[in-house]
Amino acid sequence: MVENYGIHWFRRDLRVAGNNALQQNWKENNGRVVGVFCFDRAFLARPDFSVNRFQLFINTLIGLQEELREIGSDLLFLDVGPEKAFKDLLSKLKEKGSLPRLFTCNRDYEPFSRVRDKSISELMKAYEVKVQTYRDHLLIEPHEVFRSKVTEGYKVFTPFSRKWLEAFRKDDVQNRIKIQAKGFEYLNLPKKSVKNLFKMTWLDLGIKSVDNLEKYSKENKKNVDIEIPECGLRAALKKLDEFKDKLDEYKNKRDIPSVLGTSKMSMFLKNGSITTSQIIYYLGLNFYEKKDDSGKATYFKEIIWREFYYHVLYRWPQVEHTAFQPKYSDLKWGNNKKWFEKWKKGKTGFPIVDAGMRELKQTGWMHNRVRMIVASFLTKDLLIDWKWGEQYFMDTLLDGDLAPNNGGWQWAASTGCDAQPYFRIFNPWSQSKRFDPDGEYIKKYVPELSTLEAKKLHVPILDHPDYPPPIVEHSVQRQLALKMYKFE
Ligand SMILES: Cc1cc2nc3c(=O)[nH]c(=O)nc-3n(C[C@H](O)[C@H](O)[C@H](O)COP(=O)(O)OP(=O)(O)OC[C@H]3O[C@@H](n4cnc5c(N)ncnc54)[C@H](O)[C@@H]3O)c2cc1C
Repeated sequence: MVENYGIHWFRRDLRVAGNNALQQNWKENNGRVVGVFCFDRAFLARPDFSVNRFQLFINTLIGLQEELREIGSDLLFLDVGPEKAFKDLLSKLKEKGSLPRLFTCNRDYEPFSRVRDKSISELMKAYEVKVQTYRDHLLIEPHEVFRSKVTEGYKVFTPFSRKWLEAFRKDDVQNRIKIQAKGFEYLNLPKKSVKNLFKMTWLDLGIKSVDNLEKYSKENKKNVDIEIPECGLRAALKKLDEFKDKLDEYKNKRDIPSVLGTSKMSMFLKNGSITTSQIIYYLGLNFYEKKDDSGKATYFKEIIWREFYYHVLYRWPQVEHTAFQPKYSDLKWGNNKKWFEKWKKGKTGFPIVDAGMRELKQTGWMHNRVRMIVASFLTKDLLIDWKWGEQYFMDTLLDGDLAPNNGGWQWAASTGCDAQPYFRIFNPWSQSKRFDPDGEYIKKYVPELSTLEAKKLHVPILDHPDYPPPIVEHSVQRQLALKMYKFE
């Protein structure tokens, strides 16, 4: 019989340092806390499952398990869905008279997760296990930002960001940042001194932690077709260190895809290797005035955009399946499958679009400016439903994340809240001339064009032996798109 210990359920908070819920559990149970992660096999069949992203996730979990073992705890990896996993686990622990006294997790805001968490919480209560949930991966939670009534969410970014920044200045929120940043101190402690930070393992509870993580990794790796980058908080901080020197230039460089002018934090944020609060602290981001267009303020705004899209998904969960603006839920898309395949393969005959799609396929990431260009091109030039593009991005992006992905797609397709108006249609030729004038980015990912003069990359290429002519004519498609949005 083992008493007075806690279980922490890891989901998208895959780190120890500055992990709010884990820390509270640790405090309340004097270090007697064990971790668990439940992987649902049904997830493998989900349409938004990505082999490459899953590998990044598994690698992060393996690192987390090692770290927890080094500091005196452990991570149990269960490969059945949480409902069954926790039912079985609790009944085993009950038999042994060893139920935990506290179960913690950090809050997740996706519609699917909210339903799941409610049911797990009820299950815990049925076993009389105390449940506590915490804020972690967002700095300010969606329910904390509202207009005049708690039930009223913001549909427009600027007033949302004003309200968000108002909250940001409050002591309570500043404390959140300080508390999470305190986790960095732990990272600098010598290994010896943290060896016994935690004081309990699954073995103490008579539960054998089978190393099936390695098994999953081996199986999954067979299908991985890109290089999986380094993962975990330490890797995130290494990247952030490199980016720190470029922060002042962020405003000017963030739109140039041939330059590494952005932080590449998104894949770390996605699985909680790092949090918004930790980035804010590390980069010294602070309240900015309306007209501030410094690199710092511009970067901070992007972080707030991320929080905004979570806010939208939380308030209007239907956006996961349909247009935010109901009038655009039944647009008459052309949905030409051949064109969709060419878009995916980077063979549309529009060099900037093809470079972006090939970057995505080869690396699992795509520059934000190019994401906007390829999304606009798919919806307003090829007249293909934004949901097809959203799905393909989820299949391929290492940072694929429902809230910002859905927000980005609905923004580009003009179906979302605070989206660009439908008549604002990117011209792919002028976009490429403006943001990749020397064709450096295009030539990197479309090597068959590497010997072409830069100016020839921003106009239709009609007679190249290895590169296709444009599959559509932009000016014609633009008119068709306008008609579609006007329901003509
Ligand atoms: C069609 C489309 C799909 C997208 N899909 C995703 C996705 O699946 N996952 C994802 O994390 N981001 C997505 N974005 C937003 C953005 O492209 C990425 O967050 C960004 O490119 C990540 O690179 P970075 O970390 O270097 O960004 P940085 O420029 O360094 O920005 C720092 C952080 O701010 C946030 N951020 C930056 N730009 C945006 C934005 N436009 N919207 C919301 N948050 C932003 C991200 O968390 C990012 O890591 C999408 C954008 C578009 C237009």
